[in-house]
Amino acid sequence: MDDNLNRNVDAIVIGGGIAGLQAALDLADQGFSVAVIEKDASVGGKMIRLSKVFPTLDCASCITTPKMAAAAHHERITLYTYCDLKSLQRVDGSVRADVIQRPRYVDAQKCIGCRKCEFTCPVMVADQEQGGFSPTKAIAIPFSNAIPQIAVLDPEHCMLCGRCERVCPTQAVDYFQKPRPFTVTARTAVITTGFEMTGMTDKPQYGRGTIPNLIDALQMERLLAPHGPYNRVLRPSDGKAPDSIAYIQCAGSRDISMGLSYCSRVCCMYAIKQAMLLSGSLPLADITIYYMDIRAFGKGYEQFFQNAQAMGINFVRAKVAAVEAGPDGSVRLHYEAQDGEGVTTSDHDLAVLSLGLIPAWHPDGICTLATGTDRFIEVLRPKLAPVQTSMAGVFTAGAASGPKDIVDTITEAGNAAMAAGRYLAAQPGSTPRPAETRADIEATVHIDG
Ligand SMILES: Cc1cc2nc3c(=O)[nH]c(=O)nc-3n(C[C@H](O)[C@H](O)[C@H](O)COP(=O)(O)OP(=O)(O)OC[C@H]3O[C@@H](n4cnc5c(N)ncnc54)[C@H](O)[C@@H]3O)c2cc1C
Ligand code: SF4
Ligand code: SF4
Repeated sequence: MDDNLNRNVDAIVIGGGIAGLQAALDLADQGFSVAVIEKDASVGGKMIRLSKVFPTLDCASCITTPKMAAAAHHERITLYTYCDLKSLQRVDGSVRADVIQRPRYVDAQKCIGCRKCEFTCPVMVADQEQGGFSPTKAIAIPFSNAIPQIAVLDPEHCMLCGRCERVCPTQAVDYFQKPRPFTVTARTAVITTGFEMTGMTDKPQYGRGTIPNLIDALQMERLLAPHGPYNRVLRPSDGKAPDSIAYIQCAGSRDISMGLSYCSRVCCMYAIKQAMLLSGSLPLADITIYYMDIRAFGKGYEQFFQNAQAMGINFVRAKVAAVEAGPDGSVRLHYEAQDGEGVTTSDHDLAVLSLGLIPAWHPDGICTLATGTDRFIEVLRPKLAPVQTSMAGVFTAGAASGPKDIVDTITEAGNAAMAAGRYLAAQPGSTPRPAETRADIEATVHIDG
């Protein structure tokens, strides 16, 4: 085992999305040492991939990037990225995480993020960070504001031509890099593993991913983002600016045939947000949201919905029963509107599925954390201890315990950090270092790749 990555810290945070970053920063500012273990090559979670956020329409990366950088520069936080959690167990009063860091085929200690390898690599691959719409290279920095800025080589597409190795100024490319197992022990842990979306192929009635201009809502986030794949909203099949865009709500959630009976909570609001942003970038386009109910539950959300109606966005109360490819690249929807017009069809240049949210991680085979019937992490006493899991000293926050918006996620992350801090302070022999202000904290980068 490589000893370099092993650590003994006060708290482990599993998942480096906005919930994990907030919990880590709050714990570190209380004086505790924290290890963040992230599955992806960069921290930031879904939020760093969003365009703007409801209900304020703030730029998502303007909020997320400073938190990513603050965590990377905090002297008490160590970020571990590109890691698979193999086991999380309580051992003699400690929490022990056994982790394997996947090979990037780039030495994290040597890479300076210059991107010379990326520019020289001849192999183009679809960039999943951009919704699969634009190309990246077989070796690349994951995205422009990724943290850490370390290149990752994709072994499935690399043709081992050797160009990246030759051009790299620091000899960081290492085709023979191996997975690195390591162990982090702590006295508490916070699980912030977030969500994934249901698949485009899950519902046969919606074309199983074969309809060219039917995309999912995260892909639309990329089309709307300032550094998106086309720098404007174009439909993927032919680059046409869409004149008519449809949103299909509850495309997975509240649908027993999909096994998801619950509401995913954020889809109504993100569809309204995207529709508002689209009407700004495509002022002449017709935008229609097909919905069963609009769930605008948060502070300012109902006003946001009313503003969208005032802007001329169409809301049609209907459950879309089926979707198919229409003429000239259009997407044809079949639905029965509640106003009693009977079964109707409509064609749109581009359509967006508001897919359901499901847990990104399940503890099966890794630890004994209890999950609910929805498979999200179970919070045993939601009113008394809303971040306490079934494992003593293990807390959770954000979408790991159920679909949640950013406001609730950040609030819960602060709550989990406070609960974990109190748990740590109650342990025998606990001597947390005095909390410092952010200005006092030396800008020492603690990234173990
Ligand atoms: C299309 C779309 C638009 C949205 N727009 C908005 C909006 O405008 N406003 C708003 O308030 N909310 C919005 N949301 C909701 C918002 O994305 C969530 O509230 C937020 O991302 C939750 O943060 P999180 O950290 O809990 O989860 P995530 O963002 O999912 O982060 C979880 C992190 O954990 C990592 N992880 C997962 N499993 C493991 C593992 N086993 N080991 C280690 N790491 C792991 C993941 O890689 C990820 O980095 C939107 C959601 C979608 C789908
Ligand atoms: S691997 Fe080398 S060439 Fe590529 S970004 Fe890192 S330092 Fe630059
Ligand atoms: S060795 Fe692989 S990653 Fe490097 S330049 Fe050649 S194809 Fe690209």
